[in-house]
Amino acid sequence: MSENLNVLTSTQAVIHEALNKLGYDDAMYELLKEPLRMLQVRIPVKMDDGTTKVFTGFRAQHNDAVGPTKGGVRFHPGVYEDEVKALSMWMTLKCGIVDLPYGGGKGGVVCDPRQMSMGELERLSRGYVRAVSQIVGPTKDIPAPDVMTNAQIMAWMMDEYSLMDEFNSPNFITGKPLVLGGSQGRDRATAEGVTIVIKEAAKKRDIAIEGARVVIQGFGNAGSFLAKFMHDLGAKVIAISDAYGALHDPNGLDIDYLLDRRDSFGTVTTLFEDTITNQQLLELDCDILVPAAIENQITAENAHNINATIVVEAANGPTTAEATKILTERGILLVPDVLASAGGVTVSYFEWVQNNQGYYWTAEEVEERLEKKMVEAFENVYSTATTRGIDMRLAAYMVGVRRTAEASRFRGWV
Ligand code: GLU
Repeated sequence: MSENLNVLTSTQAVIHEALNKLGYDDAMYELLKEPLRMLQVRIPVKMDDGTTKVFTGFRAQHNDAVGPTKGGVRFHPGVYEDEVKALSMWMTLKCGIVDLPYGGGKGGVVCDPRQMSMGELERLSRGYVRAVSQIVGPTKDIPAPDVMTNAQIMAWMMDEYSLMDEFNSPNFITGKPLVLGGSQGRDRATAEGVTIVIKEAAKKRDIAIEGARVVIQGFGNAGSFLAKFMHDLGAKVIAISDAYGALHDPNGLDIDYLLDRRDSFGTVTTLFEDTITNQQLLELDCDILVPAAIENQITAENAHNINATIVVEAANGPTTAEATKILTERGILLVPDVLASAGGVTVSYFEWVQNNQGYYWTAEEVEERLEKKMVEAFENVYSTATTRGIDMRLAAYMVGVRRTAEASRFRGWV
């Protein structure tokens, strides 16, 4: 039988198992197996050549029992409905794991920003906000950056929403530029969260970060900041990659040089001749492997060849259910996405809190609060996994889904 690569059905299976273990009956699963709301929109955009192109977009809101829904908007040619649904469910889990007063949401637009001008991207971003405006807002659903969206796109979206709402609404969206009410540390938050959990996981396996061999797949927002942080902590980043290939040097790559040469989408390997493939990168002998790119990278096909002591998922959904089982059986410590990458939404929450207060924190305050949230979350998931004898993903789902399930029960939805 071939492996299930559908991110929605595989997420549903783990949610089902987590709810069972927590003692909920099937009515709770019926409520939580799909988003409560899923909007599909078509967005007409005037292109620079005078033609009009109609883009398809989505916004999924998994469950708002705990509070407004929260999650990024991705711009990518491969965006599809089930993926956006699964991503919104992962946001519920992340918010539960780091204990934020949100449910999960997610958006996406089928497009390739690498092929679009700034003007086209601005019109698409504004069009997306107009199209989903009825279901989003500072107390309903708060968007943020995700794959191939950034602070500039958040700024256009915030401006469009503010124009429609007739109020300046910085709390509509997070991941904004600092001058528009962004938070200190938001741009690096996902990678910082990953770094914190790497340190905690390394302690559990007696690995010293100094000198540890680290492999990172992906050089986008999470991967590039992470490479820098690991390098600065004295680890040896022996391989990195982008969508086109990977660079490998067993003595450690010159990360500062690569960061300097990388374009705004994280492409850098095209400048080099001596490259390896992303598949080869994943199988390199190392201490810490960090998939920080896209879904379904570690599967039943290659899980037996993974040569790392710890795998930390900075991307959403990089390891399949089957591969999770194989890695766990092989004694590899897997830190799942919904835990490892929760630093981004954590600082997004801090940003929203600061916007609501109109009072802004220092970088040190943000960092301190992020560290506390991530360390507590790691310990919580790790101890659930060890005391119950279950894998880290199931443990993370149990911790993550509990608050939404309880809130739904108290509201009388189940
Ligand atoms: N897109 C990020 C994620 O997948 C951040 C979401 C947010 O900050 O709301 O976690």
